[in-house]
Amino acid sequence: MIPGARLILLGRQGAGKGTQCVRLSRHFVVPHISTGDMLRAAVREGTELGVMAKRVMDEGGLVTDDIMVGLVRERLSQPDAVSRGYILDGFPRTVGQAQALDEITAVRPIDVVLDLDVPRDLVLHRLTSRRVCRDCGTNYVADGVEKLPWICEVCGGDVMHRDDDTPEAIAHRLDLYEEQTSPLIQYYQRNGRLAIVDGVASPDEVFRRLTDAVEAARRPS
Ligand code: AMP
Repeated sequence: MIPGARLILLGRQGAGKGTQCVRLSRHFVVPHISTGDMLRAAVREGTELGVMAKRVMDEGGLVTDDIMVGLVRERLSQPDAVSRGYILDGFPRTVGQAQALDEITAVRPIDVVLDLDVPRDLVLHRLTSRRVCRDCGTNYVADGVEKLPWICEVCGGDVMHRDDDTPEAIAHRLDLYEEQTSPLIQYYQRNGRLAIVDGVASPDEVFRRLTDAVEAARRPS
């Protein structure tokens, strides 16, 4: 395995993207850039962006492309992302964001766009029991018998129920995914950078499929 990669992981919320991104970032030794985590950090810091983002996120809506593109442009210009690459999680979410990203990455293009494919019914079920580490983003499944306060096994952070994981917000986010984000599959399919990975399997098996897809895409043809 050659360290360093420029990757995008697409997929419905609840498909297991967060957990797989944490693992992929360690495997390829690249920063995990999650736009959701960036917005949640802004909410915690109480910045102007955070106040606006909290309202949008709690409703399950999308923050505007201008703001998101600005955040990602800045993050991708940091030395770690320039020298090692990155895994993008939660971005792009619209065709407008994907077009802007093409422009941002024109000099150092994305290696492969991975689409983690999990059907809507299954993610709906997973999202209602999802709990997330506030600090490192590791996902957990609540089964009702966990010990509280719940401490993350990876980093010792607090494991929380996200404010935006209400049934209404979940339904709205999944609708938005079909409308705004699923067209990205065709967008990336057209320029030959897409690998669709079946996400219905154990986390270890899905991870193996994802790393295989990255290696296959990087192999010289
Ligand atoms: P996530 O952690 O990726 O599920 O993102 C949580 C929420 O942050 C989303 O439901 C959106 O409200 C917002 N968000 C994150 N990334 C983006 C993006 N690329 N474009 C617009 N809104 C975003």
